[in-house]
Amino acid sequence: MTAIIQIDTLSKQYDSGTRALSDVTLDIHEGEIIALLGPNGAGKTTLISIICGLVVPTGGTVRVGGHDIRTDWRAARRLIGLVPQEIALEPFEKVINCVRFTRGLYGEGQDDAHIEQVLRSLALWDKRDAATRELSGGMKRRVLIAKALAHRPKVLFLDEPTAGVDVALRREMWEVVGQLRREGVTIILTTHYLEEAEEMADRIGVINKGRLLLVKPTSELMGEFGKKTLTVELT
Ligand code: ATP
Repeated sequence: MTAIIQIDTLSKQYDSGTRALSDVTLDIHEGEIIALLGPNGAGKTTLISIICGLVVPTGGTVRVGGHDIRTDWRAARRLIGLVPQEIALEPFEKVINCVRFTRGLYGEGQDDAHIEQVLRSLALWDKRDAATRELSGGMKRRVLIAKALAHRPKVLFLDEPTAGVDVALRREMWEVVGQLRREGVTIILTTHYLEEAEEMADRIGVINKGRLLLVKPTSELMGEFGKKTLTVELT
């Protein structure tokens, strides 16, 4: 299998002195869904932020599609779509314009056929002319995903896609991820919930106190550790 992302002995110490990541090494393969599972403060967002070029590491390397994120940032960034934890949308803007705008940020010319396909696959086409403030929480999250997919990235990062949402919305997000999987998008998601990782991911990486403790195929991990053991290890 081809590794679309190669993370090698990655470390991050913030100026405050907090060591958020220590020697994380991981290959992420094209087409897979990998869940990074860990409690608050484990280092999940730091890891994603480094890969997306938002935070500078203090050690190690990351390659995306063979491009080093430090020396070849633009080429690497083009392959990545990020759905952040917080919902930040311009409230008065139409859904379709939000998506077009993000595509423009990447210097891509407009491609209305692609934007229509993205909005349709996320069940947002009928809402394309609605202002984002009129949308439900679930729809807003789907707009964030549409924005992240606007420039045709190969890899999608979902940072805690179901943080603070109810059970119905969580299920809706799981379905959206299932749909993206069928379309062949490589997905890296972070979560606090083992059941969510189990439901969505092909592999699970357990991260705690800045260290990647293990990475295994979901079925193997669930067979080896009971849910209870894993939960206890993380607390
Ligand atoms: P959560 O699940 O709560 O989002 P996380 O696993 O994503 O947590 P991070 O947000 O990566 O964890 O945080 C890892 C550690 O780094 C924590 O101790 C956090 O307080 C610290 N940290 C994160 N961002 C910064 C920053 N900008 N400056 C200083 N310390 C930071």
